[in-house]
Amino acid sequence: MNRASAERSDPAWVAAQQARADALFLPIWQAKPFLSGGRAGFLSATQLGLNPDQMCAFLGLQDGRPLFAVALPDSQDPPLATLGEFTEMRAAALLLPDAECAIAGQAKSLVDWHHRHRFCANCGAKTLAADSGYRRDCPGCGAQHFPRTDPVVIMLPLLGEECLVGRGARFPEGMYSAFAGFMEPGETLEEAVRRELQEEVALQISSVRYHASQPWPFPSSLMLGCYAEAVSKDFQIDAQEIEQACWMTKAEVRARLAGGIEDGIKLPGTVAIARLLLADWVNTGDK
Ligand SMILES: [Zn+2]
Repeated sequence: MNRASAERSDPAWVAAQQARADALFLPIWQAKPFLSGGRAGFLSATQLGLNPDQMCAFLGLQDGRPLFAVALPDSQDPPLATLGEFTEMRAAALLLPDAECAIAGQAKSLVDWHHRHRFCANCGAKTLAADSGYRRDCPGCGAQHFPRTDPVVIMLPLLGEECLVGRGARFPEGMYSAFAGFMEPGETLEEAVRRELQEEVALQISSVRYHASQPWPFPSSLMLGCYAEAVSKDFQIDAQEIEQACWMTKAEVRARLAGGIEDGIKLPGTVAIARLLLADWVNTGDK
């Protein structure tokens, strides 16, 4: 999808896109995207009964057709029940094709951001949506607010043919995964990885290597997936953050990812970047 970031700052252009007969709108209600038949539930303005100047966030042009996200007002019963259902984003991610999952995540994240930033963080006045949904302006002090993305490091410590996985207290039963934590101001990616591993498992790290990223719209994180080379296998869990940790061999991880070991220990599902870190490590010779 083309996000048309140059064109979308022109209000007349965006209004013209929104008025097009072929424009489609993805409704978001209570932070849940609308799904219909296992697909993203894009609807026309007519199907939604949209008023032409309703504030919508522009998502982009797909094959030339404009797509928007629209927030539906809170109500006790879910709206549009005859056409589909509003689905929590984590569950939607398991159902939707990849490209639609990315668009639904973008829509959910944007709508959520507007909902959480109705007042200026600088002066407290009510803010107004601008720039086709990518900015909020404060009429009180003139501040401009932009959708935020919160970077989170997620890392798999490696030592030779083994990796360290751990489980947080709030994980589903039996689930082990990579370690993760929010980056702090003034930190590099590498420093954040080292700090988090020091805090959570007191593990000494030699080098850190970035691997891949994943938007994680809960509400607005960006997961930065890394490998961390451990100096030794010695670790000590911080009981406040980690319930258990253990080293797993490549062969064991490979078998567990394939579902070949049934002993109650689980690795993350396909939606999580932690699984990609594990799978790419076992499937590629050089990691
Ligand atoms: Zn202000």
